[in-house]
Amino acid sequence: MTDKKTATPLSDLGEFGLIERLTKPFGIKNSATVKGIGDDAAIIKSEGNDLVVTSDLLAEGIHFDLVYTPLAHLGYKAVMVNLSDVYAMGATPKQITVSLAVSSKFSVEALEQLYDGIRRACERYDVDLVGGDTTSSMTGMVISITAIGQVEPGKAFCRNGAKPGDLVCVSGDLGAAYAGLQILRREKDVYMIDPNTQPDLSKYDYVIERQLKPEARRDVIEAIRKSGLAPTAMIDVSDGLSSELLHICKQSGTGVKIYENKLPVDAQTEAVAAEINMDATMLAMNGGEDYELLFTIPAEQVEIAGKMQEISIIGQITDEPEVYTLIGRNAGSARISAQGWNAYGNGKG
Ligand code: ADP
Ligand code: MG
Repeated sequence: MTDKKTATPLSDLGEFGLIERLTKPFGIKNSATVKGIGDDAAIIKSEGNDLVVTSDLLAEGIHFDLVYTPLAHLGYKAVMVNLSDVYAMGATPKQITVSLAVSSKFSVEALEQLYDGIRRACERYDVDLVGGDTTSSMTGMVISITAIGQVEPGKAFCRNGAKPGDLVCVSGDLGAAYAGLQILRREKDVYMIDPNTQPDLSKYDYVIERQLKPEARRDVIEAIRKSGLAPTAMIDVSDGLSSELLHICKQSGTGVKIYENKLPVDAQTEAVAAEINMDATMLAMNGGEDYELLFTIPAEQVEIAGKMQEISIIGQITDEPEVYTLIGRNAGSARISAQGWNAYGNGKG
């Protein structure tokens, strides 16, 4: 995990020493953060805005595998997963708390790497680390992050506002993170058999980066606000496009049709899909962990959306509740169901 020469046991520092060492490199950027780490609770000013609050918990062996996940990437990703939820509300993230359960197999230096990733995420997205909790675990690591964001009163994007006729849009491209996971898992299996192999993963760089180091789409929220687009519903794509479409439709009481030929899929994702004998559309619909933004807009805003580089129009909301259709490239169509997510089955979610 870390260099043997610099592996200080956690017991050398104790809980308070550890917290101090891990959190010392963090500063406070937001004036809304009145008090950060060091008291019984943080103090946050909301300055007349609505606050949004969201948490995600990642458990070793369920959500991440430290054989192929560098701790700094894990820290970065754990923050992104939360910021993505804040942006999907149309809000600006301001603060996070980080709660950790760690076993004695981790050294102080290993946890410093984790916090290095957390700090880079905080710096890049102008977020303050304002607290958390630290405890020991019997085995492995559990990391839970809570993010707090602000949005103008009444301006949050919720899941329940989609109307029949609205256009369905998604940012970026889909399926790459899942493709990257398949490559990493394959290489781990190869490594287990022959630890001397040196895999050349350069041709998979994009999909692996999408899996290990995703970015929350602050840029898309900023572009939407600037363009005058008025999303009627929004959600981030964490569990897979199918699953997120169904969330919007169920909460909005609508149906949806999606056009297969409009789904944004990167060429590297297509190449991996072919290599591992999976359908690229299946990866795009059900892969998950894309952390893109899925949203609906009134049909009359088609031209504004069409001009925006970072988004694709992939379908339309219909007035038939519970009818979710994928219109195939070759005329045929299929029912969309949420199969991308099963926290107790395939280790996603
Ligand atoms: P308490 O006894 O009130 O739970 P702690 O001793 O656990 O307080 O925490 C002291 C301070 O350090 C608090 O501000 C807390 O929010 C913060 N803190 C504890 N653990 C972490 C962590 N893993 N990451 C960031 N801040 C932490
Ligand atoms: Mg505590």
